[in-house]
Amino acid sequence: MHYAQIAIPRPLNSTLTYIIPDSLIGKIKPGYRVSVPFRKHTSVGFVMEITQTLPKDLVCENIKEIKDILDNDPIFSTQMLDLLKWMSKYYCAPIGEVCKASIPSKLIQIKPVKRRKISEPAEKNFSKINSAQLTLNSEQAAALNSIINSLSSKDKKPILLHGVTGSGKTEVYLQAFEEVEKMNAHGILLVPEISLTPQLVQQFQSRFGEKVAIYHSGLTDAQRFHEWEKIRDGKVFVVVGTRSALFAPFKDLKLIIVDEEHDASYKQDEGFLYNGHDSAIVRANIHNATIVLASATPCVESFINYESGKYNYHYLATRATGALLPDIEIVDMRTQRNTLTKEKQSEIISPLLFKAIEEILSKKEQALLFLNRRGFANFILCRDCGHVFECPNCNIALTHHMLPKRMICHYCEFAIPVPDLCVKCNGANLKPMGQGTEQLEEELAKMFPDSKIARLDKDTSTKASLRKTFLSSMQQQKIDILVGTQIIAKGHDFPNVTLVGVINADTSLHLPDFRSYERTFQLLTQVSGRSGRGDKPGKVIIQTFQPEHPSIIFTRDHDFKGFVDTEKQNRKALNYPPFTRMANIRFQSNTDETTSKTAKKWLSMLKTICNSLNISDDVHLLGPAPCPLHKIRGKYRWQLLIKAPNPKILSKILLRVNHIINSSPSAGCRITIDVDPINMM
Ligand code: ADP
Ligand code: ZN
Repeated sequence: MHYAQIAIPRPLNSTLTYIIPDSLIGKIKPGYRVSVPFRKHTSVGFVMEITQTLPKDLVCENIKEIKDILDNDPIFSTQMLDLLKWMSKYYCAPIGEVCKASIPSKLIQIKPVKRRKISEPAEKNFSKINSAQLTLNSEQAAALNSIINSLSSKDKKPILLHGVTGSGKTEVYLQAFEEVEKMNAHGILLVPEISLTPQLVQQFQSRFGEKVAIYHSGLTDAQRFHEWEKIRDGKVFVVVGTRSALFAPFKDLKLIIVDEEHDASYKQDEGFLYNGHDSAIVRANIHNATIVLASATPCVESFINYESGKYNYHYLATRATGALLPDIEIVDMRTQRNTLTKEKQSEIISPLLFKAIEEILSKKEQALLFLNRRGFANFILCRDCGHVFECPNCNIALTHHMLPKRMICHYCEFAIPVPDLCVKCNGANLKPMGQGTEQLEEELAKMFPDSKIARLDKDTSTKASLRKTFLSSMQQQKIDILVGTQIIAKGHDFPNVTLVGVINADTSLHLPDFRSYERTFQLLTQVSGRSGRGDKPGKVIIQTFQPEHPSIIFTRDHDFKGFVDTEKQNRKALNYPPFTRMANIRFQSNTDETTSKTAKKWLSMLKTICNSLNISDDVHLLGPAPCPLHKIRGKYRWQLLIKAPNPKILSKILLRVNHIINSSPSAGCRITIDVDPINMM
């Protein structure tokens, strides 16, 4: 008898065993899609393994037969199957769900997919600009050389490409992929978010034309499938895409580049919680491909991996255009006295920033002003009784918006009209507190009535196409001042921007997350890097209430190494990654009581697990405690952190945890395991 281990795209904790009917023996192989009876229906299934014997603990009479094979070719290569199995195991995720996450949704349907022409291309081709190769400077050439050498070498290490903002990393990527094309091989460029990198996409399209696929969540199902097929059939040799492009079905994968490798969006934070950055390293390893991790602000973990010899390292210290890094000035908002005329006074914009804006406007240059809070005011406070208007589903303050005029919850979109009276004491003394981008935009319009001001945040650019429009208006200098949230901080190359203002550098410093100093440093360095990229010198003004904070000082001094050294000591002292490996067990239910009870019960179960594995002394359990965002969308949330000395020990614990969760579900309480958590809120 021939059997197949089948992964079903459902939250099941293992594969299921099916009999291969005689007619399909020899046809069904690992990686193929099949249709199988599942519960009362027919489901698609993915063949993981073929065996001649049954798994030991299976009773033969329950086994059903595979109905049919769905395609002529396998959809997963053996390397891809290895990656999917690794991800399922490492992230404690059901194998079927992992398979599902890795392919276009069309392939989850039972229908055999017919090949037909799709008239709608995924991305319109941009005008051919800038498609000729640039002559690399010596730093770029050295980096390219080491990538090319690695492509054909047997023993590979990931390459950390650390290049200051504007150092010309894109040209290095382009030439590296040209080399891949010459070898008749394939490559993947991962980017954090496509709509924020139109320039990069454009450069790839103009250099490689039809031979590049674009893959991201903004595509329709049909477009996504179309791109997937182009990749599988070798019609393109390179894909530029977000996280899930890591699963591009290339046969001869030789190079993966992870752009902005520090970016938190490589971590999927809903459903199957995997890290695309780390999984890309694993995929490269399986294919013996070269992997390049690139950033102006590599994450602390990556830098330490270089220092400990696990990664090779290249530093691009200068900007490719010859421009200098911008001058960064810090404004101490505690001591700011307004020296502006009365009508130009502002709580948001310091006199220094005001003057700097005035100056660049007079020279017809452009400014970016960064404020990481959208809306008009952060919350509304009743000055009589102290009441703050909160979301009933999420227990966090509602944000005051002007366009449209509503109080909106940024987590669940719950909204109410802006109140005139306090709901608690009926007082009329309501005051908007804290400033958001809407208010900044309004204030600027008063201060600089003749200039063209635009705002780019989630509210003004729900659609990717809108973001593109904003960014191209910026490129064409139709905007003088662009106000925005972190959307404006990333990757853009606007040569005429000579001033970047950070309105409040403190917003991200004190989040209850061990990475908040690092995030702040990265964000400030990245946003600063937008200034002075062309032939005019750039300036950055950072407003803060904590001018002596290391994240701010090291940004001012362009001192990445100084920051990492300090951060390393902090992490070591407090036993945080990479000096430890963490997993976060998250609990959520409809009542705080159920959640906290379950979480507390799990603490003692975890202690028992550690005892029985003889690792109690090495493992630290933190909590359980309510999550910083205690209630979201009506669910009460708690978490329990596991800190283990290495991934092996962590995975031993998680194997047991996962087994218990699957075999005895906790009534009414959802439990999820987040391995290497990034979002601790
Ligand atoms: P990064 O991604 O490293 O921040 P970019 O790739 O956006 O930097 O490059 C910054 C600017 O430098 C771009 O305008 C690019 O065209 C230019 N550039 C890159 N390499 C060279 C080079 N070798 N000579 C001249 N200009 C270059
Ligand atoms: Zn809410």
